[in-house]
Amino acid sequence: MKRALISVSDKTGILELVEQLIALDFEIISTGGTKTLIAEAGLPVIGIEEVTEFPEMLDGRVKTLHPAIHGGLLARRDDASHMAAIAEHNIALIDLVIVNLYPFQETITQPDVALSDAIENIDIGGPSMLRSAAKNHASVTVIADAADYEHVLAEYRELGDTTFATRQRLAAKVFRHTAAYDALIAGFLTEVVGEEYPEKLTLTYNRKQALRYGENPHQSASFYAEPIVKHASLVSAEQLHGKELSYNNIRDADAALHIVQEFETECAVVAVKHMNPCGVGLGETIEQAFLKAYEADPTSIFGGVLAFNREIDLATAQPLSDMFLELLIAPSYSAEALALLSKKKNIRLLKMPIYNTSVASDYVKTSVAGGLLVQQADEIDEDPTTWEVVTTVQPTTEQLAALAFQWKVVKHIKSNAIVIGDDSQTVGVGAGQMNRVGSAKIAFEQAGDRTVGAVMASDAFFPMPDTIEEAAKVGIVAIVQPGGSMRDQESIDEANKHGISMVFTKIRHFKH
Ligand code: 5GP
Repeated sequence: MKRALISVSDKTGILELVEQLIALDFEIISTGGTKTLIAEAGLPVIGIEEVTEFPEMLDGRVKTLHPAIHGGLLARRDDASHMAAIAEHNIALIDLVIVNLYPFQETITQPDVALSDAIENIDIGGPSMLRSAAKNHASVTVIADAADYEHVLAEYRELGDTTFATRQRLAAKVFRHTAAYDALIAGFLTEVVGEEYPEKLTLTYNRKQALRYGENPHQSASFYAEPIVKHASLVSAEQLHGKELSYNNIRDADAALHIVQEFETECAVVAVKHMNPCGVGLGETIEQAFLKAYEADPTSIFGGVLAFNREIDLATAQPLSDMFLELLIAPSYSAEALALLSKKKNIRLLKMPIYNTSVASDYVKTSVAGGLLVQQADEIDEDPTTWEVVTTVQPTTEQLAALAFQWKVVKHIKSNAIVIGDDSQTVGVGAGQMNRVGSAKIAFEQAGDRTVGAVMASDAFFPMPDTIEEAAKVGIVAIVQPGGSMRDQESIDEANKHGISMVFTKIRHFKH
């Protein structure tokens, strides 16, 4: 007769499983709550204390931590001395272990969880059994995930035993599971004691979804989520309509979200292509903001990803429904807007909170061959009233407002980044060029005759005055940049020469 040890917090599907195991001639051993459930269903079950000849104690903290259990799990079946020791101590072998752990994650994600509740939900005996069984997968089958019940039962039914390949696969899964469980506890306690980066990085990730492919169709890809996500993010977005999100959709949506989060008091719309904004618009209404974002660059928005910081209403949905767009993100959609947009087969509609709820700080992770670079997100309080005007020409109040708006946008554009426009619209974006004047020329060309009277933001200092010279030619009237170049004075002189005002922020926003 084979023996199965069952000890589960989540008892879903357990009775059906036990019935099938009994039909397969298994003897069932079980812990307190699990045993009661099985016994009450009228099924035969042996209590753990009968096996250990020791009561469950300390409020369940000690139930299965006993040689009678771990001996039965860890003994090598093909080792005579192991088998002799087992026999000498009257320990019965255990063939199958089914354990799921105390719900630590569910406990700590509850609002205002008491520390004592969190601690009590650290499972000790469960992971120990899982690890003993997984170590001895040469002979023992271990299940930590209800999704594996069926396959294991089928093997017992058809072959009389599980295959080594299955046991090995389940063992690997168990060690992934217990590693993630421990990492979650480590992450939680690390936060409790007030330590953060880099200790926080013990956190592991859970695979949220497999993606159809990565950046290109020949690359496989998945979306992983941190175990606890406190900020507004794509992880918690609800998809209301459209095809599955792609890898590129998720990255573009994330970029669009970060930009639209810059604006809270005004209605804002951001259109993103290949991780860079092609149009950002502010307005009194969301429709107005959308029209500005659209008119910023009506060519590039084709196939774009758009983020809105207010509900999408019918007036806004109407022009949207005439365009080809990949994805919209908004905090909500009016019923009419949703009905209209849902008629479009190829558009994806995401609903999600736009603003962060309770994040003190966020980290950005970038993979490099063999490792990971981690840095704090580019978040810093900036106050335009403290900016230093470095030219004799003073910016007007209107120009200052325009500079402040463009400065918020430029930090989200891939370096070398130049953006031009006014106080509510970008009209030209130059992204990712290998020299600054090259980015500026692209922005000017995109803007056409809208450069006249526009202001310009640069994510980093001008190493030489050539960009200012070009800006003067197209009619730019004010410039914001960090300053800090050895040749700043040449740029300042150039600006003064053309009657352009210039301010230094002293903060750089490279985005590589
Ligand atoms: P039950 O509801 O059967 O009383 O408890 C099942 C839970 O107890 C499972 O989640 C299992 O991982 C956990 N467990 C089993 N043995 C021990 C032990 O010795 N100590 C602790 N802390 N938890 C255990």
